[in-house]
Amino acid sequence: AHHIAPLDASLLTIQRAETLKPVPEPGTYTFGDIKTDHMLVMTYDPVVGWSAPQIKPYGPLALDPASNCFQYCTNVFEGMKAILNPDGTPCMFRPVDNMRRLQSSGARMALPPFDADALLTCITKLVLTEARWIPAVPGHALYIRPTLIGTKPSIKVGASDHATLYTIVTPVGPYFPTTTGGVSLLAVGEHVRSWPGGTGGFKLGLNYSPGFVPQQAAAVLGYDQVLWLIGEDKQITEAGAMNFFAVVERDDGGLNIVTPPLDGTILPGITRDSTLVLLHAHAADTSRKILDLPVDKPVYIEERILSVNELAEWAKAGNLLECFGTGTAVLVVAVERIGDLVGADVKQVRDIEMKAGRGLGPVGQALWDKLLALKEGRDE
Ligand code: PMP
Repeated sequence: AHHIAPLDASLLTIQRAETLKPVPEPGTYTFGDIKTDHMLVMTYDPVVGWSAPQIKPYGPLALDPASNCFQYCTNVFEGMKAILNPDGTPCMFRPVDNMRRLQSSGARMALPPFDADALLTCITKLVLTEARWIPAVPGHALYIRPTLIGTKPSIKVGASDHATLYTIVTPVGPYFPTTTGGVSLLAVGEHVRSWPGGTGGFKLGLNYSPGFVPQQAAAVLGYDQVLWLIGEDKQITEAGAMNFFAVVERDDGGLNIVTPPLDGTILPGITRDSTLVLLHAHAADTSRKILDLPVDKPVYIEERILSVNELAEWAKAGNLLECFGTGTAVLVVAVERIGDLVGADVKQVRDIEMKAGRGLGPVGQALWDKLLALKEGRDE
């Protein structure tokens, strides 16, 4: 048997761009549009294995038009951010988890495996190469998009034994620059984003594109994002590309914080995980004040199936304190209101409103503060 080369970060070469682009002022760009000077690229071939990783000038990839990714959507990706620590050093938040999730997404699409540590070493080099693009403005970051695509040059239906693994970066500002800082959601059950046994638990390109039509329809009705549902009983999966949380006031004065479980229909968000870790730590010992909640209420965390009907009932009873979304793009974002279809007529939408109003409520705000402090290296 001959040797198949593993992904080897020690072979990384850096070819610098001859002229560097001007870095635009923060606040002048929208999410995802700006191209920096360099990208990271490596390829897999079933005979030789992984190529030496290259950091090189940003530019087009040359791919065979028969490439598996174009025909069968073997495209998986990650989303992470680099920001500057208070001392000016670039830092990333839980990047090992993004590498693991990329491995898991790639494996689901039968793409060639890669070494996660080696990829992270190369991505770190890319971030350092592009360090001048990291905006030193609060709420801004250098967004990092690792991407793995199947490049087998054949239209035969089947797994791709060739791949390209590349990473591009782009400076970004706040994802939803709305006046209240919150987002409105339209609850959609007619189109389903994911289902039991489906691929919602992975970050595959093909999970996103079927959402564009319902997203456009939601925008026409005046909503920012879609709240994705499954089933007759309107079970909530996710909100846009974020995980969803609801905070409900209990009769005994405590707060229930409810989020759908990782049952394969939702993406296992890294921000979701950090949120749950912080909430559990806070609940386990309120004297430590892990979260700065304005009122000293006991907190109970539930990972369970949650429906829009329940939200509507809680809102009616005056117990729905707040809802929020979590994700790398937004960190924590307030859900201003949720449009719920009542009756069969598509135009009959009734808004579920939050008791805490349209901005972040106390729990969302406390999580925002803590997560931001952790991300910015002001807290451990
Ligand atoms: N759900 C979906 C569908 C997403 O695309 C994302 C963004 N990766 C999230 C949730 C949030 O995940 P994370 O906190 O890891 O960014």
